[in-house]
Amino acid sequence: MYRIVYLSSASPLYSDEALKDILTVSRRNNEQSGITGILLYHEGSILQVLEGDELKVTNCYHRILFDDRHKGAMIIMEGACEQRYFEKWSMGFQQVNDAQWDTVSGYFPVTSESVQFENKNKSAQDLVTFIGSFCNSSFRF
Ligand code: FAD
Repeated sequence: MYRIVYLSSASPLYSDEALKDILTVSRRNNEQSGITGILLYHEGSILQVLEGDELKVTNCYHRILFDDRHKGAMIIMEGACEQRYFEKWSMGFQQVNDAQWDTVSGYFPVTSESVQFENKNKSAQDLVTFIGSFCNSSFRF
């Protein structure tokens, strides 16, 4: 099992129609590939978690990376993992409000070059647990 978490910026901001297109194709493809995850969207900021078979997840990420509907993709966490956190969702999606985005992004201050974890060992490790429990407690997908 493998997981990638990345941040990026919508280019340009998504209309409802554009979001629907992305989610429809993502859910179809991810279901076929056994990939699960979530996509959080806040005023053009994107945080996506992809989890599943390593080759399938990395292939999917590379397709996404070269998609010109977003820019500045930055991986904040990548590696093997023992379990899925988002097993119910081929691609859970939620538009988050200011306070929710502050809660999530406050976990990993982002500069244009890198992501800084206050405590590298703890924060990178706990990030997905944090996002998972945040999503479970905040949203119904
Ligand atoms: P197709 O079945 O041919 O579908 C591609 C669809 O995307 C078509 O509807 C096409 O019109 C549309 N499309 C592609 N590129 C553009 C473009 N530049 N502008 C407008 N429309 C376009 N794909 C996944 O499989 N899983 C994901 O989790 C996932 N997450 C994404 C997250 C973000 C933020 C973005 C921007 C894209 C994501 N995608 C995801 C889409 C991915 O980038 C590819 O477009 C998609 O995987 C291609 O699928 P396909 O080869 O089956 O193409």
